[in-house]
Amino acid sequence: MFTKEDVMRALEQVTGPDGKTPLSQSGAVSGISIRDDKVFAAIVIDPRQAAQLEPMRAKAEAAIKAIKGVGGALVTLTAEGPRAAAPAGGPTAGPAPHTHGAAAAPARSANPIPGIRHIIAVASGKGGVGKSTSACNLAVALGKMGLKVGVLDADIFGPSMPRLFGLRGKPEVAADGRMLRPLVSSGVKVMSIGFLIEDDAPVVWRGPMVVSALTQLLREVAWGELDVLVVDMPPGTGDTQLTMAQNVPLAGAVIVSTPQDLALIDARRGIAMFRRVQVPILGIIENMSYFICPHCGGRSDIFAHAGARHEAERLGVPFLGEIPLAMDIRENSDDGKPVVLSLPDSAHASAYMAIAGQVWAALSQGATGAKPAPTIRMG
Ligand code: ADP
Repeated sequence: MFTKEDVMRALEQVTGPDGKTPLSQSGAVSGISIRDDKVFAAIVIDPRQAAQLEPMRAKAEAAIKAIKGVGGALVTLTAEGPRAAAPAGGPTAGPAPHTHGAAAAPARSANPIPGIRHIIAVASGKGGVGKSTSACNLAVALGKMGLKVGVLDADIFGPSMPRLFGLRGKPEVAADGRMLRPLVSSGVKVMSIGFLIEDDAPVVWRGPMVVSALTQLLREVAWGELDVLVVDMPPGTGDTQLTMAQNVPLAGAVIVSTPQDLALIDARRGIAMFRRVQVPILGIIENMSYFICPHCGGRSDIFAHAGARHEAERLGVPFLGEIPLAMDIRENSDDGKPVVLSLPDSAHASAYMAIAGQVWAALSQGATGAKPAPTIRMG
């Protein structure tokens, strides 16, 4: 098996951004990571030189691919500086500077965002559990309660808020020329990386880039006054998610899980991650909890139903509610119509409304900032 040192050695053959120093010595290589037989690396450059340095990027990628045992390589150019305290221009061989050791308990360092009262994360231990659908409907439900709400789609690997809110088009730059205006749908202000990239463009992000993109979306959007900003997190509990949880001044996190055991194990990891960075857990939503037949309206408990409720009790976190697996949730969501508004009398809409009520109650009872989580018990 190959190592990061082998990668750096391969990069000795490629000339760095200054046209003379080998890339490995240039100090520009940041965040090498190896997953299975794949290598990811970023080269920090002056963004004005991106086009000119594309051949360097391609050569670096080819050099890494030529290492014995490497099955694939992805090298990206990034404008972000490395975060390690490495001497400028010095070699950056060695571990990636932004990894978090398992034992580390990083403190949260995020500043509040003026005008936004509470920022909450909607997260899941894995993809496909309905995290984004839940985030969207939770936001709309909070809006229906008369609150001023925004959604920040931080699911940078698969932004789905444009679809869920039926929004297309590019955000405008606000009068000050610096901030982007969020788009508005269903009474909610929405910002998504999906608005800013071409539909079919492959989106490739490295950890540090994801975090800087998120920070930008958070702080350089003209959100105005908001009672709640709902952040749709990328699924999973890796370094990227952990760094995001640290970098966003979160008042709390909502964890979405399906009832299957596996998803619950993932949900537990999600809870552990937020606890590690001292973000209060506002509760768990059990999505796809039971099946509602589109033909007869009958209910079937396909999965071991109520798993999330039991798990929440066991972990001492609030259980926020259960959402059925229902055809009309998927159909309406795909049409950009959140069911809270499009099917206001459905069981799903009332479940989302009840969840929003609990979330707001927890927030207004003071589960904000970096304070320890209050124990909120819902009957
Ligand atoms: P995630 O954000 O966790 O990846 P999504 O919210 O994108 O998941 O949902 C994945 C798919 O499942 C979407 O097609 C969505 O419409 C569908 N879906 C989510 N929740 C439900 C539900 N309760 N009933 C039916 N379909 C759902």
